[in-house]
Amino acid sequence: MASALFHRPAAELSALLDSGAISSVELMQAVIDRVKAVDPSVRAFNSSDPDSALAQARASDERRAAGRRLGPLDGLPIGLKDVIAVEGQPLTASSKMLANFISPYDSTVASRLKAAGAICWGRLNLDEFAMGSSTENSAFGPTRNPWDLSRVPGGSSGGSAAAVAAGEAVAALGSDTGGSIRQPAALCGVVGLKPTYGLVSRYGLAAFASSLDQIGPLTRTVEDAALVLGAIAGHDPRDSTSVRSEVPDYAGLVRRRGGPWRLGIPKEYFGQGLDPEVAAAVENAIAHYRSQGCEIREVSLPHTRYGIGVYYIIAAAECSSNLARYDGVRYGHRSREATDAVDLYFRSRAEGFGAEVKRRVILGTYVLSSGYYDAFYLRAQKVRTLIRRDFLEAYREVDALVTPTSPIPAFRLGEKSADPLAMYLCDIYTIGVNLAGLPGISLPCGFTASGLPIGLQLIGQPFKEAELLSIARSYEQAHDWHTRVPSL
Ligand code: GLN
Repeated sequence: MASALFHRPAAELSALLDSGAISSVELMQAVIDRVKAVDPSVRAFNSSDPDSALAQARASDERRAAGRRLGPLDGLPIGLKDVIAVEGQPLTASSKMLANFISPYDSTVASRLKAAGAICWGRLNLDEFAMGSSTENSAFGPTRNPWDLSRVPGGSSGGSAAAVAAGEAVAALGSDTGGSIRQPAALCGVVGLKPTYGLVSRYGLAAFASSLDQIGPLTRTVEDAALVLGAIAGHDPRDSTSVRSEVPDYAGLVRRRGGPWRLGIPKEYFGQGLDPEVAAAVENAIAHYRSQGCEIREVSLPHTRYGIGVYYIIAAAECSSNLARYDGVRYGHRSREATDAVDLYFRSRAEGFGAEVKRRVILGTYVLSSGYYDAFYLRAQKVRTLIRRDFLEAYREVDALVTPTSPIPAFRLGEKSADPLAMYLCDIYTIGVNLAGLPGISLPCGFTASGLPIGLQLIGQPFKEAELLSIARSYEQAHDWHTRVPSL
């Protein structure tokens, strides 16, 4: 059970700070000590700056004492995936390419967290440039799953998920292009929310696939996800895909009892490759909703089987274009061996990028090249529209969809490294959400017999995060999975 300070949910810690029972400095120190104790084995952090964090905690305590608390997150240490810019802090994307890069400016999400009084705490490990499902593609070595150190934490936001699970950050931000928030959340037993495309600004996020990327929270509870989302969501003129809409009071709305809802079970999400223990846990969750009076209906998303293929064309194409900027000239790794300009590009990229990034850049350049563009990229875009239509069609009958997050629980380090296709199949239930631009959340729904967490995915309608969070919370409140913590 979560009794130590560093394991408590953000909402609870916020109340303790408000009542004066603890100070932000005390909390920050507990988290710093925790990182010192467990991160040599978990390795969620690429870097951190405890002195600056403590200084921010002191400032937060002074604000509270003066009655100038900035909001519920004031004084809470929140970790950031190492692709989200914080001024003056390193941003490596877990790549040799950016090993020595320091952000000259704040991402919009970081400046919003700061404005809410949160402490931007540490730089969390990931698969290089967010490409992967295990955090093994990091140039700085893999993060380990806090529930079993011989297993992966999932990815690409594996450092963010592991840090929250291990008590090394109260909450964290990740990015999700094809499942990178939800899948590691599932494998580490925490909550992960991928917001609707356009709800959260991508300004200051190292771009992977711009039409799919979205930043979101990893937290210990659904209520915490609502709190963090409330702080980071909203229109930003610096991201042209950011949507102009009012940000509702997610945390306030989620505390109200909602439902019963009409929930859809996509039959394509329960087929071959689904681990029986994961299937059983998800079935139990569905039975719970039924027992609460929800109407459960089977629905069909017939284009699901094209999801992986479409994703790995579109994501690779956008990645090859986005990563063209790393040429060794303006910033990032610059080869010392180069003899002329073209040689400089070749060598800097050959030395700076890891194998998975190169695989995607090559694939993406291929599908965009003349003669192949129509056959691959354009075709994939058309199928993407069909996939989105499947979801919108289902939403004529149901409020949200219930599925597993990942077909399997955490696998062993190295188990899938030699087989990219096996690794890509980890995303089979998460990528449709990105292709369709929808919100999706993963929350704990049980454990395997060997003690590994299992994640439940709920998929919502565009911009209906408040409803999605309520559906998630109604399950969470009737169970105690989220109160369990790994023994480290
Ligand atoms: N695992 C997927 C990939 O490798 C998704 C990654 C992500 O969401 N950033 O592309």
